[in-house]
Amino acid sequence: MLNDGGVVAIPTETVYGLACSIDRPEAIRRVFKLKRRPSDNPLIVHVHAVDQALELTASRDQNILRRLAEVFWPGPLTVVVSRSSKVSDLVSAGLDTVAIRMPAHPVALEILRGTQSPLAAPSANISGRPSPTRAQHVLDDFGDELMIIDGGACEHGLESTVVRVIGSECLILRQGALSADDLRHALPELFVRSANEADQRHRSPGTRYRHYAPKARVVICRSPEQVQDMLAENPAERAVVLTSAISVERNADLNARMVNAATLYDEFRRADALQVERIIVLCDDELSRNEALMNRLDKASESGGQSGDEAV
Ligand code: AMP
Ligand code: MG
Repeated sequence: MLNDGGVVAIPTETVYGLACSIDRPEAIRRVFKLKRRPSDNPLIVHVHAVDQALELTASRDQNILRRLAEVFWPGPLTVVVSRSSKVSDLVSAGLDTVAIRMPAHPVALEILRGTQSPLAAPSANISGRPSPTRAQHVLDDFGDELMIIDGGACEHGLESTVVRVIGSECLILRQGALSADDLRHALPELFVRSANEADQRHRSPGTRYRHYAPKARVVICRSPEQVQDMLAENPAERAVVLTSAISVERNADLNARMVNAATLYDEFRRADALQVERIIVLCDDELSRNEALMNRLDKASESGGQSGDEAV
């Protein structure tokens, strides 16, 4: 189907992807349309071999691509490089760069080996909805007109980390399943930092949009007392409390559900299905330690995605 210009949802170790051949313009357009994704938000290209990635990369960025691939591929690191002429404007949304990743999921790799070209594969959700971490989530968003390969629940459950190396700086354009510390340890020759407003030109266009949000309002609390107060203030409201396994056990009176990075989006979607109005997250030390998880919670919460210059 992919070789014939079709669109297929595939499992990866981060989240499910909506895959199509990068050589099929009509399939790429269908992916944007299905997702209702703004056309200025480029897609990540997936490969099964470093050589395949090098063909998509302009010569000046090939060495850094080789270096990052050697350490982190296959795995949840997406590398942004200057693109070669093999990458179309459609995939890169007109940017002069392309984002490339080699997934670690055996099914994704097998599919990539069996297709004639690399696959563009953004997360297989409607834009603005939480990314899908189970085949059922893809089905919930797109219905059964789409071919979905069920590979079970995703190991990481958060999107890949997106980086761009410029000189000796490794800019994190999107936090994700691979932590900044993992990058620092493995790449001592590079200065690893998060992209800020000043790096706007290089930032992931996708981070401009309100993302990862369930329909319910998400509120972050720092103590069990704060959660209790919030529940007491709104007794009629349909609310769910999420926290780490340790805090679930320590605060049995909260009737909280356990959450971690791998299950966050599943919990968001579950809350929506139950028409929960408010998701209260008790962020203890355990949850706070995970930067990518906190980043997604922050974006989903009232203080996050809707603020300032963010487009919706
Ligand atoms: P998704 O495919 O839904 O996981 O989102 C892909 C993310 O990668 C989005 O945030 C994009 O903006 C980002 N991305 C894709 N291509 C590029 C690129 N050439 N430069 C910077 N960010 C990119
Ligand atoms: Mg996405």
